[in-house]
Amino acid sequence: MEEIRQDRRNAVASAFREEIGHAFEPGAKVMSADRELRYSLELQRDHIARRGIRYTDEMDPGKKPTRGLHNVRSWKDGHYETSWSVGYIKHTRTAERDGLKKYKKTESQLIYETVVDVSDGEDVSEDTYCCPNCGAVSSIRELQEGCSHCGTSFQMSELYPKVSNFFLVHDPAVNTDPLWKTVTKCGLRSLPVTLLLFSPMIWLDNNFSLLKGSNFADHIVVPSPANIIAYIFAMIILSPVVGYFVWMLSLFFAAFRAIGKETPAALSVGSSRKRFAAKMSTISPEYTFEKFSARITSLFKIAIFSDNRESLPFYAAGDLSENFDNVVDCTYRGWMSCKKIKEQNNIVYVTGDVFVDATRDMGDRLKVKSEVYQITAGRRTDAPFTTDFSISKIQCPSCGASFNSFKSGKCPYCGAECEPAADDWMIYDIRDVGKKYMIKKILWGLLIVVLLAAAVFTTFEGVKQK
Ligand SMILES: [Zn+2]
Ligand SMILES: [Zn+2]
Repeated sequence: MEEIRQDRRNAVASAFREEIGHAFEPGAKVMSADRELRYSLELQRDHIARRGIRYTDEMDPGKKPTRGLHNVRSWKDGHYETSWSVGYIKHTRTAERDGLKKYKKTESQLIYETVVDVSDGEDVSEDTYCCPNCGAVSSIRELQEGCSHCGTSFQMSELYPKVSNFFLVHDPAVNTDPLWKTVTKCGLRSLPVTLLLFSPMIWLDNNFSLLKGSNFADHIVVPSPANIIAYIFAMIILSPVVGYFVWMLSLFFAAFRAIGKETPAALSVGSSRKRFAAKMSTISPEYTFEKFSARITSLFKIAIFSDNRESLPFYAAGDLSENFDNVVDCTYRGWMSCKKIKEQNNIVYVTGDVFVDATRDMGDRLKVKSEVYQITAGRRTDAPFTTDFSISKIQCPSCGASFNSFKSGKCPYCGAECEPAADDWMIYDIRDVGKKYMIKKILWGLLIVVLLAAAVFTTFEGVKQK
């Protein structure tokens, strides 16, 4: 039984990796994702289309094991089992629009997927259900996006397992090119600089040697065209050697950038998981931190990409159009920290910081920047919690029309307000806290420089003593 469940989780993770590459194609529905993540991807696609941008994603699993690794980490609570799956991809993203400088980026990445499943509960996805509106018979699985015959929407429990969050991590180690290729590319790219740097060589005659201690001035001649060509040729042949040094340096600086970028986040996240579990176990034990952060990330993305935030049933934060209207992509960086948990009037409020890389449309170009947002979300503690499967037709209490009440708190036909579902998270506040982390980052940078200087100094002193 346990094995069958694990197989189904693996299948969902693999399917997601396949589907996510096509998520921005017209009409695509990422069915391996849960309702919230699926909706956030649809909204993002529509939002990008409204701005006239076309995204093309190519995700090549390469020669590495395409099936990826499953269950690399897992968490359990009373009802859910959450686990991470990891896969390798070579990700090429192209963005196009008239007047926009073509954006194309290829990166070796690891894709992490948060797979949520229920620990117990039966699989009803293949059971049949008769649509109460038109009478057509469909499987439960087919009804997730409404009845395909009459369009009736249903309120139904999630059909686990599903992917409920994902993030992409740049990983140079996944680079599939052999070393000689990387190094040669690096060398040829730095050729203009190399040629300039060593150009004094062509002004010297053949007899000059530093070892003989000759004087420069005695050996300067006007270079012949043959000499110049020979020089350029030699530099091209030597470019892998130069490339090797440039490549080593670039790795070194990349590591430094990564430290500066991730340290404050890592420190802030630190013990969040434990703290969340300890506090929430007494209030609302059916949420692991992974499940919670996945849900909040999806709701945050829905809020960013929606063109009608006020009508979102879970959204009670202020107007954020100015902050978010030009965001065309927002990738979770795999970090969320839990800052505060408070219980008041039968609602538990959790405040956490979410670390994202936001891509903004600047008109003529796209700009990617690391940003941090502090989100306060709340959930009622008196609403009964159940993992039993349920399905019912959604109907407007005023005009009787069927619409997806999860996507909109107002009936799209008559405008009547509908009660939001009582048992899920609401977002109460979103604020930009990037500056706070910027200061921390600068302090960390300074600390690293001081430590480095100290290390160099002691080594130097040590050498002198010898
Ligand atoms: Zn129907
Ligand atoms: Zn209505």
